[in-house]
Amino acid sequence: MAKKETILPSEVIESLGEQMREDKTEVAPPTDKGPEPIQPINDTYSGSLDDAASLLLRQLVPAVRDYAFELCDLTLKIPRWQLVLGAVLAQFESGTLQAPSIDPSWRQIEVAVGVSTCKYVKCGKTFPPKRFGQSYCSPQCGNLARKEEIDRINKEKAHDLKIRKHIESIEMGKVATS
Ligand SMILES: [Zn+2]
Repeated sequence: MAKKETILPSEVIESLGEQMREDKTEVAPPTDKGPEPIQPINDTYSGSLDDAASLLLRQLVPAVRDYAFELCDLTLKIPRWQLVLGAVLAQFESGTLQAPSIDPSWRQIEVAVGVSTCKYVKCGKTFPPKRFGQSYCSPQCGNLARKEEIDRINKEKAHDLKIRKHIESIEMGKVATS
């Protein structure tokens, strides 16, 4: 029993790490103490941060994205997540964190994270939208829905025309008889 207790289960180590990170954010005033080095719990944690940073940087326009990748991978030789966090920190230190540059296309990404229901009634499948305001799960559903809508409008028009002609003929008849 005592031997086993020397090795903490990974969940405990992880939760300890979380507590340490939480404590750090509460205590550290970034201007007084200066930035404290982040203690990665293991390669996976650091690797996950790097994956997250790459995912974030890929949302930038190609010119900025490629320059950012070049900076971390070749020029500065730092993990990508350090460039992302370092940029936020630099903004904070220069007092410009409250004025970020927001690319309008990022709004689409927020929407694309959710799930939509295909607006073509005969389909009604749920799907992850790839662009802002995507109504149909596929171009096929979109085309079918548009075709049916056009057919419906034409049918209504034809129906209206039929009624109008009918009314006209009655009125004509009335005029003729009276
Ligand atoms: Zn569909």
